[in-house]
Amino acid sequence: MKYEISGTGGRTVELVLGDITRQETDAIVNAANSGLRGGAGVDGAIHRAGGPGVMKECRELGGCPTGSACITTAGRLKAKFVIHAVGPIWSGGGSNEAGLLAGAYRTSLDLAKKHGLSSISFPSISTGAYRYPLEQAAPIALETVEDHLKGDTSVSRVVFVLFNQATFDAYAAAMAELQVG
Ligand code: ADP
Repeated sequence: MKYEISGTGGRTVELVLGDITRQETDAIVNAANSGLRGGAGVDGAIHRAGGPGVMKECRELGGCPTGSACITTAGRLKAKFVIHAVGPIWSGGGSNEAGLLAGAYRTSLDLAKKHGLSSISFPSISTGAYRYPLEQAAPIALETVEDHLKGDTSVSRVVFVLFNQATFDAYAAAMAELQVG
């Protein structure tokens, strides 16, 4: 599923069902924790596929605040960079979770722009172990990406790599809303 952002000269957002470690975009985004210590879910998969060099760079960075992102090289992965985005842990919605989730996406895109990248893949940040409700996370993710693509940026292609059908369906529904809205 693909959505062209109007007025941007053909910049696109795509939704695919799959494994982000296999993506060949310039950067792939990791759903990291603030200690950049690695973990389960997509974080574990990225470190396994990228190899120990990625973890070494994460240790050197020392950590990354919730609601932002940090960048490393990508080791054995096909991408050139891994952007480690730290989304919020859901705790009911009254702790600025929405602002922090948007911040994780926005900082990732700003890093991609800073490095002159043209393509970037995201997983569904915070909706796994961090329990952010999918139906609320999907529109925040897509709107933050759309805002970035409408501005001055090197990024022309954003891919959401969604790991299961329920996640894909939630993003597809949010994308349909954006297109009519
Ligand atoms: P968080 O702690 O931010 O919630 P998780 O890794 O637990 O991060 O989950 C985030 C999302 O990433 C979930 O939708 C999960 O199904 C998905 N995911 C897990 N492995 C992969 C992978 N290899 N590629 C893409 N998405 C993945």
